[in-house]
Amino acid sequence: NASSGVPPGLANMKPQYTGIFINNEFVPAKSGKTFETINPANGKVLAQVAEGDKADVDVAVKAANKAFQIGSEWRRMDASQRGVLLNRLADLMERDRVILASLESLDNGKPYAVAYGADLTLSIKTLRYYAGWADKNHGKTIPIEGDYFTYTRHEPVGVCGQIIPWNFPLLMQAWKLGPALAMGNTVVMKVAEQTPLSALHVAALTKEAGFPDGVINIIPGYGHTAGQAISSHMDVDKVAFTGSTEVGRLVMKAAAESNVKKVTLELGGKSPNIIFADADLNEAVQQANHGLFFNQGQCCCAGSRTFVEGKVYDEFVARSKELAEKAVIGDPFDLKTTQGPQVDGKQVETILKYIAAGKKDGAQLVTGGAKHGDQGHFVKPTIFAGVKDQMTIAQEEIFGPVMSVIRFDSMEELVEKANNTIYGLAAGVMTKDLDKALHIANTTRAGSVWVNCYDVFDAAAPFGGFKQSGIGRELGEYGLEAYTEVKTVTIKVPQKNS
Ligand code: NAD
Repeated sequence: NASSGVPPGLANMKPQYTGIFINNEFVPAKSGKTFETINPANGKVLAQVAEGDKADVDVAVKAANKAFQIGSEWRRMDASQRGVLLNRLADLMERDRVILASLESLDNGKPYAVAYGADLTLSIKTLRYYAGWADKNHGKTIPIEGDYFTYTRHEPVGVCGQIIPWNFPLLMQAWKLGPALAMGNTVVMKVAEQTPLSALHVAALTKEAGFPDGVINIIPGYGHTAGQAISSHMDVDKVAFTGSTEVGRLVMKAAAESNVKKVTLELGGKSPNIIFADADLNEAVQQANHGLFFNQGQCCCAGSRTFVEGKVYDEFVARSKELAEKAVIGDPFDLKTTQGPQVDGKQVETILKYIAAGKKDGAQLVTGGAKHGDQGHFVKPTIFAGVKDQMTIAQEEIFGPVMSVIRFDSMEELVEKANNTIYGLAAGVMTKDLDKALHIANTTRAGSVWVNCYDVFDAAAPFGGFKQSGIGRELGEYGLEAYTEVKTVTIKVPQKNS
C-alpha cells in the first residue's frame, strides 16, 4: 500500500521559487518573459515561471565555466567534500520531502503518495549513492613499455548541459546531478516546461547545502529555445538528454554541428513484457499492470508490448481487465488515488489518437479507451487484446495508460517479435522455467531485463538503452563514465624497475 505512513500533502501550497537559478541566485529571464505551469488535475495555473532562453543559457554557461576555472573553490575542493555536499542536499530533500512531493504531484499530476513514497525515496537515494562515489572513482598506474611511469587521472568533463523531461522531474534531476557533481563537473540544467517547480525548490536546497556559486544552474524554459541553446553551445562540454528519440536526434545533431560535445541520451522505449503460461498468473497480471500503468503509463521503460503465451491468453486478458478497472482515478492528493491525470492535454490528445489507431487496425478494446471525468487530463486505463506486433499501437511509444496484449505460441517467433522494434530500453519475463528466463535475458536487445519482476530500480544498477533507446548508461558505477574524462600522464624516468 503506497499510502501507509505518508503524511498529508500540501494540496494548496504556493510554489516559492519561480525564477531562473544562476550563480546561486534566482533571477528573472533576460527577456522578462514568463510562462504558466498548470495543475493537470484541474487545469488551474500553479505559477508564472521565468522563461529562460538563449540569453539566459549564455549567462548560466558563463557562470558554470567560471565555477570550473582552475583554482576555483569547486576545483580545489576535496573529492570527499563534494560527497559531503551531496549528502547534505539529500538531507535537505528529506527535510522538505512533503513540500517536494506536493510540488511534484501538483505540477505533474502523479499521486502524491507515489511522489512521496517512490520519487522522493529514489531521488534521495541516488544522491546518497553518488555522494559515496565522489572520492572513489580514481585512476590507475599502468606498466607501459620503456623507462616511463604512466598513470591515469579521472577528471571532470567540464560544463555539463542536462536536459530533462516531465515524467519523473525530481528523479531525472537526481540521476543527472548526482554523477555530474560527484565527479566535479558544473551543470547547466534545463527542466521540462511542464514541470519546473520541484527542480527549482531543489535548486534553492543546493545553495543551502553549500555548493559554490555557478556549480549548479537551473533553467526553466522551452526545448527549441533554451534546450537548443544548450545542445548547440560552444562552451558546453557535454550534453545529457532524457526524452523522446525525435528530440534526442536533434540534440545529437546540434552537438555535432557545434563543438562535438559529448552526448549521452536516454530515449523512448517500446518494451516487451513476456508472460509464459507456467508463470503464476495472478503475479503476472499484477506485474504487467504495474509495468504498464505505473505513473499513468508515462514511463520510458513501460512494458507496453505485453506478450502472453496462447494457453493463458484469454485468462490473462480477463484478469487484467478486472485489475485495470480497479484503478482509483482522481484527486492526486487523496491518498487512496492510484492514477492521476496525464501531464497535459497534448499528451491526452496523442493517447486518444493511438487508441483510435488501435481500433482502426482491428485490435479489440477490452476496457477504457476514453477520457475520464470532465475536468483535468485523465484517461481511463485502457487494454487492447488481439494486438498484432506490426500494429501502430505495438510499435510506437504511446506514453499513456494503454496496454497492448499480443499472443505468442512459440519461443522462436517470440524472440524475433520481442526484438522487432526500433527501441531497446527494457524487457520483462515471467516464468518459473529458468531456461526460458535465461534465454529471454540473453536474447532480448534491451538495456535492462527484469525476470519475475518489473520496474525494479536502484541507484547502483545501470539503466539505459540499446538501439534507438539511447547512448550511454545512467546510474551505478557505469553512470560515472559519462561525467569523467580519462587523462593519461606519462613521465620519463631514469630507470624503471619491476
Ligand atoms: P521531449 O523529448 O520533447 O522533451 C524532453 C525535454 O527536451 C524537455 O525538457 C524539452 O523541453 C526538451 N526539448 C524539446 N525540444 C528540444 C530541442 N529541440 N532541443 C533541446 N531540448 C529540447 O518530450 P515531450 O514532448 O515532453 O514528450 C513527447 C514524447 O517523448 C512522449 O510522448 C514520450 O513518448 C517521450 N518521452 C520520453 C521520456 C523518457 O523518459 N524517455 C520522457 C518524456 C517524454
